[in-house]
Amino acid sequence: MPLYEYHCGQCEKQFEATQSVYARVEDTECPFCQARQATRLMSSFTSTVVGDRKPGFTELKAKAMNEERMQRFAKLPPLNAMRTMPPPNVTSESDPTPTEGSTS
Ligand SMILES: [Zn+2]
Repeated sequence: MPLYEYHCGQCEKQFEATQSVYARVEDTECPFCQARQATRLMSSFTSTVVGDRKPGFTELKAKAMNEERMQRFAKLPPLNAMRTMPPPNVTSESDPTPTEGSTS
């Protein structure tokens, strides 16, 4: 059973209690004054684990996919450049292919 740290709101003392995970804070009785005004304290161990929590596999995969998508976008030319580019010359005047019958 996990060990919890409590702070009594009645006598301002701290105490530890080994309780079941399902034990409620309201039902925790202070061993000094028997008041049920305790507040559960976050132990340093718990807070450290939360702070330095390693990202899970799914999070890492999502991050990698996101980075890959960003790189793909970076390779594409910006939309402004596409717009300012001249339109493809369909009716080309300087066509290198000789017209039929011009050379004999
Ligand atoms: Zn107390």
